[in-house]
Amino acid sequence: MSTLLIKNATVLATMDDHRREIREGGLFIHDGFIEQVGRSIDLPLEADEILDLRNHLILPGLVNCHHHFYQTLTRAVPAAQNANLFNWLKTLYPIWARMNPEDIFLSTKTALAELALSGCTTASDHLYLFPNGSSLDDEIAAAQEMGMRIHASRGSMSLGESKGGLPPDSVVDSEEVILKDSLRLIERYHDPNPGSKVQIVLAPCSPFSVTSELMRQSAILAREHNIHLHTHLAETQDEDAFCLQKFGHKPVAYMQSLDWVGEDVWFAHSVHVGKDEIQVYKTTGCGVAHCPSSNMRLASGIAPVREYIQAGVKLGLGVDGSASNDGSHMLAEARTAMLLARLRAGIEGASLSSEDAPPILTARESLELATRGGAAVLGRNDIGSLEPGKCADLIAIDLQRLEFTGGLHDPVAAAIFCVPVNVDYNIVGGKFIVREGQLTTLDLGPHIERHNQAAKRLLEG
Ligand SMILES: [Zn+2]
Repeated sequence: MSTLLIKNATVLATMDDHRREIREGGLFIHDGFIEQVGRSIDLPLEADEILDLRNHLILPGLVNCHHHFYQTLTRAVPAAQNANLFNWLKTLYPIWARMNPEDIFLSTKTALAELALSGCTTASDHLYLFPNGSSLDDEIAAAQEMGMRIHASRGSMSLGESKGGLPPDSVVDSEEVILKDSLRLIERYHDPNPGSKVQIVLAPCSPFSVTSELMRQSAILAREHNIHLHTHLAETQDEDAFCLQKFGHKPVAYMQSLDWVGEDVWFAHSVHVGKDEIQVYKTTGCGVAHCPSSNMRLASGIAPVREYIQAGVKLGLGVDGSASNDGSHMLAEARTAMLLARLRAGIEGASLSSEDAPPILTARESLELATRGGAAVLGRNDIGSLEPGKCADLIAIDLQRLEFTGGLHDPVAAAIFCVPVNVDYNIVGGKFIVREGQLTTLDLGPHIERHNQAAKRLLEG
């Protein structure tokens, strides 16, 4: 039994159903869960630890809905800097094929360190190649040492070049091996309970790297065990053309034909969708991980964020893999989402001042995508807002900093509008992952050196 009292924050944004923002706010935390949220003067006076956060903004911990941690090893690779998705993948597959278990472990820590410092407390990851004896266990072990919540997607590729797919045959596996390992991971790690630190997701990689049969079998296995399903979908126009030619359907209709729609499914990207497809997501309950930086980096397009919100589709944010972003900064992603949605509105002819302009994405809406939106996409009702009974997952940002100077009329909006900063506190389940701006669970200096050595080895081959 341990208690933590946090008090005197300049503003605490709960992101609860009423979107309460509490001045001079604080929380009382008991054994990793929030017991009280409110004005500091209304909270208990005593606790095992008391943290005075005057001059700080408190937000719910941010939720990242799509990533490939291992790609932190291949940021800014020269040959892949200026390629579109398919050429970018073809350049990187052979480099990724050299990874070993240690590389997966190291790169997971790197990505989670970056995420933690940028405000993330729960991250989904999508690992879909397992070369040289590596496995999802390597990633989960690293996440457990970091102390953050992880939704580890057992990705897979089964459609190699020889069968008409995009990846080389050397990085794809047989359906039998994939399904057997998926079941092993579910039985070993998946924890569906409130406060869960590890959940398993089944995630065949994309329509152009996976057979229809593996998609179907993965859905059956996931539903037998109440596991969520995830894949890349409708990311580029090339994918549209591939799906039409190979399967006779556009991506969303292809998913419907495979029984790959429902409350238990979320898709990364979903840039190229029309009104009818957005309606399919809404009526079936599919979620979307919007990845604005990656979509810009690979010139994939601009996702219809406003239309998703208006339709009531579950929508969260993903930084995507670090080879197509090339960073894992959650506050930066929330800012980029806001700016890109406004650019789209502008391209469509809307002027912010005209009366018939469509509503643009506000800072608070973007923050919502990064918190409760992401929680809904991952199927969690115990994270995403600061309320009694929820996990004690929160971040705090010191407002006395250069980046926010002159913006303190509205600290919540400043966190999204101003240049993205690193957080000063990151707390997961009542435990400090970042304290006074420093990671508590990783010695960053030696780690960076090891990671850079691994990246150099992979590139040199
Ligand atoms: Zn991705």
